[in-house]
Amino acid sequence: MAPAPRPLRAVLLDMGGVLLDFGNAEGLPVGRHDWRGREALLALLRRPGGPPLAQKHLDELLFDPWKREHARRYEQVREADWHPHLARLRRHAKRRFSDRRLLAAWFAPFAETVTPVPGAREAVAALAAAGVPLALVSNIPLPSPLYRELLARHGFLPAFRHLQWSYDAGSRKPSPAMLHAALAALGVPPEEALMVGDRRSADVVAGRAAGVATAWLRSPDSAGPAPDFELAAMAELPALVTRLREGRRG
Ligand SMILES: [Mg+2]
Repeated sequence: MAPAPRPLRAVLLDMGGVLLDFGNAEGLPVGRHDWRGREALLALLRRPGGPPLAQKHLDELLFDPWKREHARRYEQVREADWHPHLARLRRHAKRRFSDRRLLAAWFAPFAETVTPVPGAREAVAALAAAGVPLALVSNIPLPSPLYRELLARHGFLPAFRHLQWSYDAGSRKPSPAMLHAALAALGVPPEEALMVGDRRSADVVAGRAAGVATAWLRSPDSAGPAPDFELAAMAELPALVTRLREGRRG
């Protein structure tokens, strides 16, 4: 007879598509928000008598070289580093703004458009109120303070005991490394944890590799291994967690 499943003690949550809706799969400024952000970045960098600075300089010095590295993130299993490209832009502009200040200028118009996923705030609040340790495990293409600020703005931050970000970790899902780090931070073994994500190709693959149970919030990212559980909406998560904490899988 198979051993009885261990009661659940902790939940790991993805961010994009699970807590926050970025309007695109990557959580990056696109379209007119990208354009407005670039204008804000140029306004920050330009000064009277300074070197010429136009959109084409941003592409040549910053965005194009970063995108070439970003395109290799799956084979590298880590995020592309903005620093060398921002340093190149700073040298051209003869300005000293920090990486974070420059990226925040670009990111800000897009950040205004980010909204909570329906039911996510209530679900996370219910889990936190029930005393379930929560950790975030998120792939992000930009430094974590930009996204941490969004979690705070939308009321998610107090519920989390640990935040694990790919940009800081030097690893990204589907590698299980960030899940192992989050579990170690919570002091919970994999067989007593659940990973909740909207991408089977990243969250479910990483969860299975880490040895945690997986719950997939249905999305178009449906290729990859089958999850242990499926959620039609975040509102269903607290009841699933309650069941698993009681040791019931069915
Ligand atoms: Mg996601």
